[in-house]
Amino acid sequence: MTKGVKICLAAASVIFVSALAAMLWLRLPSDSTWVEITQDGKVLYTIDLASYDDEQTQTIRIDSPDGGYNIIEIGEGNTIRISEADCPDKTCVKTGALSDGVPIVCLPHRLIIKFTDEPENGG
Ligand SMILES: [Zn+2]
Repeated sequence: MTKGVKICLAAASVIFVSALAAMLWLRLPSDSTWVEITQDGKVLYTIDLASYDDEQTQTIRIDSPDGGYNIIEIGEGNTIRISEADCPDKTCVKTGALSDGVPIVCLPHRLIIKFTDEPENGG
């Protein structure tokens, strides 16, 4: 009897932990199409990739306070990437298209491109 209760409790906690893990797993990565571009902690752009024509490439130039620049390209299949930059390491360019959970970071220019939640309308 006591052993049975223990097994039940153990099973219940395993199910609980699994459910919790599943919830966290489903939450990340998000299926948001909204992207936030921040520089030095300030949000420069919040854009919806879904609102862009996925066959036409568009570029955004971002100048950094130290005189550098990053060219952000939104194109094919609603992807976003840094196509050009004058930073020494070019890590941001090599990162390629933004994927879930992995932001594009340009350390020298303090630029971060990451997926974000859809902003709430109104307010
Ligand atoms: Zn860079």
